[in-house]
Amino acid sequence: MALRVITLRRARMLSPKVRELTFDPGEGFAFRPGQWVSLKFSQAGSDDPLARSYSIASAPRADGTIDVAVTRVDGGPASTLLHRMAVGETLEAADPMGFFTLPPRLDRPLLLVGTGTGVAPLRAMIESLDGAPDAPPVTLLFGVRHREDLLYGDEFAALAARDPRFRFEPTLSRPDPGWPGRSGYVQHHLPAMLSDAPEAEVYVCGLNAMVRDARKVLRDTLGLPRDRVHSERFD
Ligand SMILES: Cc1cc2nc3c(=O)[nH]c(=O)nc-3n(C[C@H](O)[C@H](O)[C@H](O)COP(=O)(O)OP(=O)(O)OC[C@H]3O[C@@H](n4cnc5c(N)ncnc54)[C@H](O)[C@@H]3O)c2cc1C
Repeated sequence: MALRVITLRRARMLSPKVRELTFDPGEGFAFRPGQWVSLKFSQAGSDDPLARSYSIASAPRADGTIDVAVTRVDGGPASTLLHRMAVGETLEAADPMGFFTLPPRLDRPLLLVGTGTGVAPLRAMIESLDGAPDAPPVTLLFGVRHREDLLYGDEFAALAARDPRFRFEPTLSRPDPGWPGRSGYVQHHLPAMLSDAPEAEVYVCGLNAMVRDARKVLRDTLGLPRDRVHSERFD
C-alpha cells in the first residue's frame, strides 16, 4: 500500500479529551466525506509501524488540509502520540478508505447519529452539504457524557441557527442540572427522531456498543430496512 507523508499544520483542543489535528496531506489526496485514513506510527524496538484509523472530520477544502478529531484513550499508544504531536511534525498515512459515505443522489432526509468522536465523519458530511442548493433536511443526533464534551457543538448550533434544513439534537448521558436539552443515550431518542422523518436514511458512527444498540432499535423496534442504515464502528 502506498504511503504518503502528512504534516501537522494546526492543532487545538475541542473538548477536555479530544484534540483536533489539521494535516496537510500533500498533492492528490482525494476523499469522500465519511472516509477514514490509516496513520502509521513507528514503534521503538520494532520494524512494524503501529497503524490506527481516523475518520476525516472535514469536507474537501481548497487548501487540501484535513481535520481529524482524536479522543485521548488512557494508555492508548496512538491517541497519546497524536495528543503530543507538535505542529510541523510528520506522519505516514495511507490513501483514504471506507464506504461510510453519502450516496451521489440525496433524495431522502438524513439522520446522522454519533457519539464522542464518532461525530467526526458526520461533520465532514455536514460541511459538504452546507450551502448545497439540493441538500436534504439533515438531523444530527449527537451523544456525549457532559456538556463540555460536545466537540464542534458551537459550530453545529450556529449552522442550525442559520439553516432551517439542519437540526442539531445534542444529548448528554450525564447532564448537569441546568442542561435544557435531551439526556440519556442516543439510541433512546431514535424513535422520536424517526417519527419526525420516517423516510430518513440513517448514518450511525461511534464505539461498537452504541452502534450495535442503535442498529437493533432501528431494525427491531422501528422496522427500518437494512439498506437505509449505514454504520461505522471505531472498535
Ligand atoms: C474506521 C475507524 C475510524 C476511526 N476514527 C476515529 C476518529 O475519528 N477519532 C478517534 O479518536 N478514534 C477513531 N478510531 C479509533 C482509532 O483507530 C484508535 O482505535 C484509537 O485512537 C485508540 O488507539 P490507541 O492506540 O490510542 O489505543 P488502543 O490501545 O488501541 O486502545 C483501544 C481502546 O480504545 C477504545 N477506543 C478506540 N477509539 C475510541 C474513541 N474514539 N473514543 C473512546 N475510546 C476509543 C477501544 O474501545 C479500545 O478499548 C477509528 C477507528 C476505526 C476503525
